[in-house]
Amino acid sequence: MLPQAPRTSRYRLSGGPGYDALMNAPVEMCPECASEHTYEIGGLLACSICGFEWNPDEVQETEAGAEVRDSVGNLLSDGDSVVVVQDLKVKGSAGGIKAGTKVRNIRLVEPVDGHDIDCRIDGIGRMRLKSSVVKKA
Ligand SMILES: [Zn+2]
Repeated sequence: MLPQAPRTSRYRLSGGPGYDALMNAPVEMCPECASEHTYEIGGLLACSICGFEWNPDEVQETEAGAEVRDSVGNLLSDGDSVVVVQDLKVKGSAGGIKAGTKVRNIRLVEPVDGHDIDCRIDGIGRMRLKSSVVKKA
């Protein structure tokens, strides 16, 4: 007779059925694919979906707004003006954003899907950009 699995109160109501309890690890989203199916391995976190491994301490530093650099490595800060260096498609805008578009008064924000600049662009409105597609003006 096999022993019954111990009952546990660790299940998260919002998660999958018992997944967190099985993995016995805090839910850290994968920075690559945003999966919650991650696990610890030797002090790093790893994603069981895409196989990406990362150091959670480094990710937290970025989220705290440590350093955001533009496409050529200039340090960016709140209130800077930047120039978009490549054409960008924008949902809901037929023309999108053209390379050379100047963006004033950027705000650095916690990256969402790599978009770490919050700004307002003439003719388009408020949106988020990746620091990798801009250059400090
Ligand atoms: Zn992943």
